[in-house]
Amino acid sequence: MANPIRATVWNEYRHEQQSDEIAAIYPEGIHGAIAAGLREQAGITVRTATLDEPDHGLSDDVLAETDVLLWWGHKAHGEVSDDVVERVHRRVLDGMGLLVLHSAHYSKIFQRLMGTTCNLKWREADDAERLWVVAPGHPIVEGIGESIRLDREEMYGEHFDIPEPDTLVFVSWFTGGEVFRSGACYARGAGKVFYFRPGHETYPTYFNPEIRRVLGNAVRWAAPVERPARTFGNTRPVEGS
Ligand code: ZN
Repeated sequence: MANPIRATVWNEYRHEQQSDEIAAIYPEGIHGAIAAGLREQAGITVRTATLDEPDHGLSDDVLAETDVLLWWGHKAHGEVSDDVVERVHRRVLDGMGLLVLHSAHYSKIFQRLMGTTCNLKWREADDAERLWVVAPGHPIVEGIGESIRLDREEMYGEHFDIPEPDTLVFVSWFTGGEVFRSGACYARGAGKVFYFRPGHETYPTYFNPEIRRVLGNAVRWAAPVERPARTFGNTRPVEGS
């Protein structure tokens, strides 16, 4: 793609302001760490937006200038306005990519796009996680080995109440014995959606070079293709006169 991909990293940005421990891990916020990882990669421009900004930082203008939106939320899903969820949903159906990160499995926008509860099992106990690549030809795993090991992460376990993914890219194993579908791709309208599991707020996961590589790859994968806007409704034949 000739033009840079325009990514917007959205974060509810509450843990970092309410916990010294988490602020020490993410001094620029989780969004700041994710944005810094994307800025390391060529061909991506990055802006950030947070819950407490007007319109949660996601005005129509911002969304119109966003090719791929990354979404991190956890404790304040209910504070995200339904108007903004509607606006993001419409943009995804029109072709904007969406990366749903970690506890955003329970965000309004992901539940709306999936149509299921998106519920799961969890445990905060310093489990190790190994993310196994199960789609070795997929662009999201370019440059990634057979697996990624994270020495400490929150555990998420099956059953994860999501629709069958179009492509499952990662399956995670945890030291407690659980497994989890940790990288899942979907098409929704003209848009592409990728759910990516790691990224609990008490661990420095978004500084991990392999996790950063996956996020950059996923931004490139989810970016819209250049096509005319879709048209609907009553129509004349395109063949004949
Ligand atoms: Zn978490």
